[in-house]
Amino acid sequence: MVTKTRSLLAIHAHPDDESSKGAGTMARYADEGVRVVLVCATGGEEGEILNPRMEQPGILERMAEIRMAELRTACDILGVDEVYELGYRDSGMPGTESNKRPDAFCNADPQEAVGGLVRIIRAERPEVVLCYDESRGYDHPDHVRVHEWGTEAFNAAGDPQRFPDAGEPWQPGKLYYFATFTKRRFTLLNDAAIAAGMESPYVGWLEKWDEMGFSEPEVTTQVNVAEYIDLRTKALLAHATQIDPDSFWFAVPDEIQKAVYPWEDYTLVSSAVETKTPETDLFAGV
Ligand SMILES: [Zn+2]
Repeated sequence: MVTKTRSLLAIHAHPDDESSKGAGTMARYADEGVRVVLVCATGGEEGEILNPRMEQPGILERMAEIRMAELRTACDILGVDEVYELGYRDSGMPGTESNKRPDAFCNADPQEAVGGLVRIIRAERPEVVLCYDESRGYDHPDHVRVHEWGTEAFNAAGDPQRFPDAGEPWQPGKLYYFATFTKRRFTLLNDAAIAAGMESPYVGWLEKWDEMGFSEPEVTTQVNVAEYIDLRTKALLAHATQIDPDSFWFAVPDEIQKAVYPWEDYTLVSSAVETKTPETDLFAGV
C-alpha cells in the first residue's frame, strides 16, 4: 500500500454540498495521491425531494438514510478516502421551525462541536482545510455554523491549551474558503451558453446578483479541474433525491464548462507556510 503523505480535509454541512463545492478539487487531489477527508456535519434530514423521478412512496420517510447512501456513492466517485459524519440534525432553511429543534446542528453546544472538529483534524493531520466563508446571500444556519466552527477548529487544533483531551495538537498549514459562487464565473458560463445558442440557466441568478449587491469573494487560488468535471457531474447526480438531472446544474454541458471555466476557486484565509497568491495549487508552499 502506498502511504499518502499529504492530506486535504473539507468540512461541509449537508450531503450534496461536497459535490456542489470543490468536488473536482477532491477528485483531482485524490487522483494525485493526496488523502482526501470529508466531514459532513448533518444528515440532511430536512431535504425535500427535488427530483421528480424520486417522488416515490417511502423516500421522504427514509430521507436521512437515503441521503447518507447518496453521500457514500458520491464520495466513492470522487475518491474520498474517509467520511466523518458528525451526526447532527439538519437545521432546515432559515426561518423554519426546524431551526428551533435542540438536536439541530445550529443549536449544538459550540464547545462540543468545535471539539469534535478539532479531534478529527488532530487525528487526520491535514495540511489543508476547506470550509465556508461568511456566506453572502446563502444564510443557511448549518452553513453559517460550518463557517464559524470550522474556522475556530482550524485555529484551535494546533493550540495545546485548547481541547487537551482531543489528541496531539496539529496545526494545518492552510485554511481556504470555497469561492464557488462568483458573479465572474456565472457571467462567463452564461455568455458561453448564449454564444452556443442555448438558453442560459443563469440569467435570473445574475439579475438577482445585481439586485442583492452581493460582494464577490476574493479569489486567491484557482485549481484546474478540467479532467475531473465529468466526475463532479457524476457525483452530483448520485444525490438523486436532491438533484434533478434536468435542472440548472446540468444546463451548461461539461464540455463548455471545461472550455470556459475549468477552475474551482478558493480564498486563502490563513497560511502558516510561505506562499504567493495567486496560486494554482492548494498545497503551494506546503
Ligand atoms: Zn448545504
